[in-house]
Amino acid sequence: MNPTQTKTEERRAQALDGARVADEIKREAAAEAERLKEEHGVVPCLAVVRVGDDPASAVYVGSKVRTSQALGLRSEHHALPETTGEQELLDLVGELNARDDVDGLLVQLPLPPHMDERRVVEAVDPAKDVDGFHPVNIGRLSLGRETLAPCTPVGIMELLERNAIPVRGANACVVGRSQIVGRPVAQLLLQRDATVTICHSRTTDLASVTSRADILVAAIGRAGFIRGEHIKPGAVVIDVGMNRVTDEEEARALFGDDAERRVRVIRERGSTLVGDVHPAEADRVAGFRTPVPGGVGLLTVAALMRNTIKAAKWRRGIA
Ligand code: NAP
Repeated sequence: MNPTQTKTEERRAQALDGARVADEIKREAAAEAERLKEEHGVVPCLAVVRVGDDPASAVYVGSKVRTSQALGLRSEHHALPETTGEQELLDLVGELNARDDVDGLLVQLPLPPHMDERRVVEAVDPAKDVDGFHPVNIGRLSLGRETLAPCTPVGIMELLERNAIPVRGANACVVGRSQIVGRPVAQLLLQRDATVTICHSRTTDLASVTSRADILVAAIGRAGFIRGEHIKPGAVVIDVGMNRVTDEEEARALFGDDAERRVRVIRERGSTLVGDVHPAEADRVAGFRTPVPGGVGLLTVAALMRNTIKAAKWRRGIA
């Protein structure tokens, strides 16, 4: 067998391009914002509150504020010092809840340890809760009602839909049961008539469950944890994980053909980003896979823009 033959016979999952879908969602959001302005004189406004100096939070908030502005939405960034008291934060949330010109309100997590995140999340007006974390919105989601759903799961559903991946009747397996990804994406898949299984750290014989899934969503937080044996041949694999790998040998073991480029990234920047799915093994088994970076990560902010516009329309009774 010559090398060309080996290449063509090797299975290779198709990449699901998050950038394309994120751009589509953002273009639609910009057009809808324009329509709201022209027809109703409304410019949707997103208020983002951040407490402390967590560098990752600063990057996420910066991206949310910049994207809102680029799409013609208004945005406000309230940056409070690490020493802010919980009551002071709750007072600000109360003020933003009461302001009629604020449509979407989110408090960037994590909060400093002296604050009770649950109390703060529950203080946000559910009608403005564009993160979809308030129990009222989680309740609506689990009842199968229209709601403001968490952004990463909304982005995942858009990615499936806009790539014409059949969800109705499919066996979907979600690994991870967090409030922000695992549980809500399972609810959205159920709403779309998938048969859904949720796995977690106590699941016995994980591979026997995940390898039956037509759609496998990995939201675990462990680099390359989902291996070839976990994946049904031809499955659609959605990799939510965002983990930093700093070790060159680990990168070589994970990235197959892409290993040398990733090693260069580690040498230049100190780390490279890897999902919860082992990319080289998944590519040999899966039919489709979301790359990391370039997959799910890009969809979260786009979905937030959509949620902000949805919140603005609902609260103001605009169709
Ligand atoms: P999380 O709150 O830490 O939850 C992790 C889940 O994985 C838990 O339910 C845990 O089970 C499960 N788990 C851990 N070890 C396991 C194992 N050995 N076998 C099976 N399940 C296991 O994480 P998260 O917030 O959902 O985030 C997950 C990943 O997605 C992280 O890498 C995060 O950075 C990334 N993320 C990305 C985006 C994005 O925009 N792309 C957004 C959010 C999160 P238990 O419940 O039993 O502990």
